[in-house]
Amino acid sequence: MTPQEILQHHFGYASFRKGQEELITHLLDGQDVLGIMPTGAGKSICYQVPALLLPGMTVVISPLISLMQDQVNALRENGVPAGCLNSAMDDADYRETLRRIRRGEVRILYAAPERLETQHFLSLCQETEIPLVAVDEAHCVSQWGQDFRPSYLKIAEFLEQLPRRPVIGAFTATATKEVAEDIVRILGLQQPFRVTTGFDRKNLFFGIEQPRDKFRALVEIIRAHPDTAGIVYCLSRKLVEQVTADLQALGISATRYHAGLSDEERRKNQDDLLYDRVSVMVATNAFGMGIDKSNVGFVVHYNMPKDLESYYQEAGRAGRDGSKADCILLYNGSDVRLNQFLIESSGRNEKLPEEVQQRIRQQDEERLKRMTFYCTQTGCLRHYMLRYFGETSGQYCGNCSRCLANYEELDISEAALKILSCIYHLHKRKLYYGVNALTDILRGKETEKTERYRFPETLSTFGILQDVSEAQCRDIIRFLLAEEWLTLSGKYPVLTLDRNSARLLQERPTLIMHIQKETQPPRAAAKAVPADIDDSLFQKLRAVRKEIAEREHVPPYVVFTDAALQDMCRKLPVSDMAFLSVSGVGHVKLEKYGTAFMDIIRAHKTT
Ligand code: ADP
Ligand code: ZN
Repeated sequence: MTPQEILQHHFGYASFRKGQEELITHLLDGQDVLGIMPTGAGKSICYQVPALLLPGMTVVISPLISLMQDQVNALRENGVPAGCLNSAMDDADYRETLRRIRRGEVRILYAAPERLETQHFLSLCQETEIPLVAVDEAHCVSQWGQDFRPSYLKIAEFLEQLPRRPVIGAFTATATKEVAEDIVRILGLQQPFRVTTGFDRKNLFFGIEQPRDKFRALVEIIRAHPDTAGIVYCLSRKLVEQVTADLQALGISATRYHAGLSDEERRKNQDDLLYDRVSVMVATNAFGMGIDKSNVGFVVHYNMPKDLESYYQEAGRAGRDGSKADCILLYNGSDVRLNQFLIESSGRNEKLPEEVQQRIRQQDEERLKRMTFYCTQTGCLRHYMLRYFGETSGQYCGNCSRCLANYEELDISEAALKILSCIYHLHKRKLYYGVNALTDILRGKETEKTERYRFPETLSTFGILQDVSEAQCRDIIRFLLAEEWLTLSGKYPVLTLDRNSARLLQERPTLIMHIQKETQPPRAAAKAVPADIDDSLFQKLRAVRKEIAEREHVPPYVVFTDAALQDMCRKLPVSDMAFLSVSGVGHVKLEKYGTAFMDIIRAHKTT
């Protein structure tokens, strides 16, 4: 079979997504690969398809044992002989898996990195033909990343001890250059073929709200998404507890997750979400890595997270099956201070030299600053975010709260020149100001300070923007910061000029800023079910799916994703051929579930 045929036969997908086919082809040709793709882009397919085409057993190294069983179940549902070995299994299961491996019946084996260090596992791998090792969440090897795992450092050693070096595929959603270089170096990838797909997730709506009452806003968001699950991220355990309790008191089906709970409770609460037994998970950032629940319809950040990397990763857990989903951040200025505090009090890593620690801290602060701009600047959120990750995009996405907020265009080219020249004249006098103080100067507001420096008489740019409102003046400065025409630096951040500023003064480009007409924050309020779907049929299909999932002891999305059910609602298949054309239906699922679902569709058609 060709990769394309495997994709259709086992996974029921008609075509590869961006990047998948190239990565697969190179792996099959024996070349190492590094795939950097956002959450939900479909990284797993990139090693699962080659695993089925290569002889022997592919080993997948994955950090979270609590989720391995789900991944294995999902593969088995598609008729792929998969297995896992980890410390959470009971003896009988463990031995049975070993037997299956020895008989050559396991084509894809999931293992936690800790496993690689055990002699027993090593011997097993030395006796087995291993053509491919896939390293999932590969950024865990890097100390720059936020999920560093020391056990990932042992992967290279493990590979060296195999009789034949397998081809290696490394996959991650973390984009920074340092992390990518660490992955290549530490895993010992040999001239890897690299794919970095675009980071944009078009199906996600991004919103920023600044509500007076966050909890009320949260409840509204949850109520606007009745048929889907959601995740609410909070910055502290205490807040998780409180929000969960308050939601439950309103009769909302919610559960909690943070590092202070017992393993048992964490596992149970996570399963409740995966199995659609509760609809809202309130959690700290401890929740989510490796969770591939595909039907998360919204992610709310109750606090602004510490950086855009975390934000994009966490928000990205929404809409993994490609359905429309909402990512909403409830911003409040106090979140900035809270994060600042967390950075300052974060545990020091004694193993690192002082200067490295200092660099890390500086980097953290810089990232926090960029995260804050994301919330306060008024341009397209998607544009800002993609730009942060080094991608270019239009200034307008039409699918974020800023774009939807009815903007009007304002030519600020002139104002920008005035602002920069004012800063320049102040610098000449060795005077440095932050956004608010500069706004006062630009608008000619007389304060004790302006008097002391005799600005009205001595500064030609004093009051140069007196016709611009205070709010707009600040917005223009923030826009210049977000677009990197200006910098903020220092402990008490002050505005400074840099090379870009010089360029602006010289080249005088036209600068257009979009300003908000209304103050009402819009929300996509994406209904979980798209308008062209017959909701009553969709609900019936969900009900059968739930029954089947319970019987098979797997999460419902492992049987079919919401996207697959919606495709059924569109195509209304009542023959095997038609059922196979549904996205996400391969041969095994047709055989196992075709009848049950087609019966419902047939009955629905005749009513
Ligand atoms: P991630 O990159 O985050 O690991 P996954 O591998 O979990 O993403 O894939 C996300 C979702 O996309 C899964 O439901 C998967 O089955 C689906 N998917 C992957 N490849 C394709 C494809 N070529 N066509 C349609 N759906 C796909
Ligand atoms: Zn936008």
